[in-house]
Amino acid sequence: MFEAAALALLAEAGRVLGESLDLSATFAGVARLCVSGLAEVAIFDLVDGGTRRVAVAVANPELAALADELRGYPPRDWKTHPLAAAVRAGRSVTVEVDDAMLQSVAHDQRHLTILRSLPIASMLEAPLLVRGHALGVLSLSRGQRGGWTPDDVLLAGEVARRAAVAVDNARLFEAEQRARQRAEEARQRTLRLLSVTEGLEGALEPRQVATVILQRGLVPADAAGAAVMLIEPGANMIQALAWAGYDEAVMKGPLWRIPLDLPVPIAHAARTGETVLLSNREEWASRFTITPIAASQHNSWATIPLSIAGRRIGALGVSYANERVFTTEDREILQGLASQCAQALQRAQLFSAEHAARAAAEAAVRAREEFLSIASHELRTPLTPLTLQLGVLRKNAPAELSPGIETAQRQTERLIRLVSNLLDVSRLGLGTLQLDRAPMDLWPLVQALPERFSYESRRQGCPISVEGGPLEGSWDGPRIEQVFANLVSNAVKYGSGRPVQVKLWRDGETACFSVADQGIGIAAGDQERIFGRFERAVSAQQFGGLGLGLYISREIVAAHGGRISVQSEPGKGATFVVALPLS
Ligand code: ADP
Repeated sequence: MFEAAALALLAEAGRVLGESLDLSATFAGVARLCVSGLAEVAIFDLVDGGTRRVAVAVANPELAALADELRGYPPRDWKTHPLAAAVRAGRSVTVEVDDAMLQSVAHDQRHLTILRSLPIASMLEAPLLVRGHALGVLSLSRGQRGGWTPDDVLLAGEVARRAAVAVDNARLFEAEQRARQRAEEARQRTLRLLSVTEGLEGALEPRQVATVILQRGLVPADAAGAAVMLIEPGANMIQALAWAGYDEAVMKGPLWRIPLDLPVPIAHAARTGETVLLSNREEWASRFTITPIAASQHNSWATIPLSIAGRRIGALGVSYANERVFTTEDREILQGLASQCAQALQRAQLFSAEHAARAAAEAAVRAREEFLSIASHELRTPLTPLTLQLGVLRKNAPAELSPGIETAQRQTERLIRLVSNLLDVSRLGLGTLQLDRAPMDLWPLVQALPERFSYESRRQGCPISVEGGPLEGSWDGPRIEQVFANLVSNAVKYGSGRPVQVKLWRDGETACFSVADQGIGIAAGDQERIFGRFERAVSAQQFGGLGLGLYISREIVAAHGGRISVQSEPGKGATFVVALPLS
């Protein structure tokens, strides 16, 4: 071939190859260029795994049909095929062809006929080399033996080299596209799983859990339908919990509750713990005698058992519109979703159990508070007329009855205090303690204390002294009086028969009240606890009481915005201090 034509061919081949990444089209174009002067037959074979014959062109248009047919006969054994000589050598070679060679490579009689009908007497083969590696071969042939010039060999080598670059580019492009697609799929998968996890955080009820798994995890991953069915405890049945993509009438009808041993995949998975993947209808039919019920329009199915701590609780069923070969990745994703589903279901169950227990406990507490409230109210009602009657009696009765009536009055008063405390506790429990503040002076309340506790103080041998002066502010008088009385009554009760000192003073904007005794004292570990409801640091045999006085006192003081504290050492007495803001 003369030089100008060769250059033209190369230029044209370069153009065709650079034009598109569609290998079949470009190779057909280059093959056609090769048969317009350089050769009578041109063939491109590529090796990737097997051998692919991508183009065959012939110079003689009458042979075009045969050339087409020849495309269907790529070299069978690439390693030994004469056409691969160039590949093995890593450079262009020429081969003289005889009939024996044609017979040795022909797949069948038809192939041999085609080979014999084409001008294949002398071949020039050029490997498609990229980075020292042959991607295929360009085979040129002529009907006459011999006659390939060194220029022809060079030219064929050059065309093949350019073709090789085109193949390489196309493959890199394909690989890049595939990688991109895989990355995108992975991203979508991650997003889907994130959305499932996010959805599950808010799902506190089993049905919500199942719905999140189905709608966020499965349907976007091309499932056409999915359902969660749970084993009914104590029964040999499974029941539909939630579904997506299936007919409501079927799910609420025949599929609502089915026997655990019904021969369908979802019951099988729930019963045996086996994951069942069915790629098409034949696979379903070969394993299950009942035809698909909910997923009757679908063509492949997956069911995965759901277990919590090794105990099977049901199964997750998924179906797809098309037949599907389940990959390892599909399997892993389904297993992952199933275990997420099982865990979330467990959490939901625990949550509802805890919720129910808490509601029951709260109801019990409330019932007790209400009972206390009603009972103490009822107990108090007859006490008021009783005190009045005792007062009248005392005035009019003969002198010798006075001491007895006085005792009865004191006991009634004690009873009133106890019942009032109970009533207060129930009010506090129900959150209904209300203050009735008014401007007042604390000093008269303090001054009245020795007289009020004169009987107890005499009996215990604890003289009560008071110190202080007028101190005005805005408080709930009866409530504050109750606090002072509680503290003084404790000081006398636990004061071991020694003097009790009461003080009232002002410290800035705070009114301070203290009661100090020299009695049994309180261990450091009990000093906080005794302010709790029904909390006591003494035995009931030694000292009577309900353990409510300090609790109520602290609540009253706190309601006034103040605080109550104690300083004490066992055996050395106790000092309680109340600090109240003036208003
Ligand atoms: P009660 O006196 O009815 O038991 P309180 O709530 O008034 O109930 O007191 C709670 C507990 O605090 C008492 O049981 C006692 O152990 C302890 N306590 C209260 N005041 C004193 C005190 N002045 N000295 C020693 N212990 C006290």
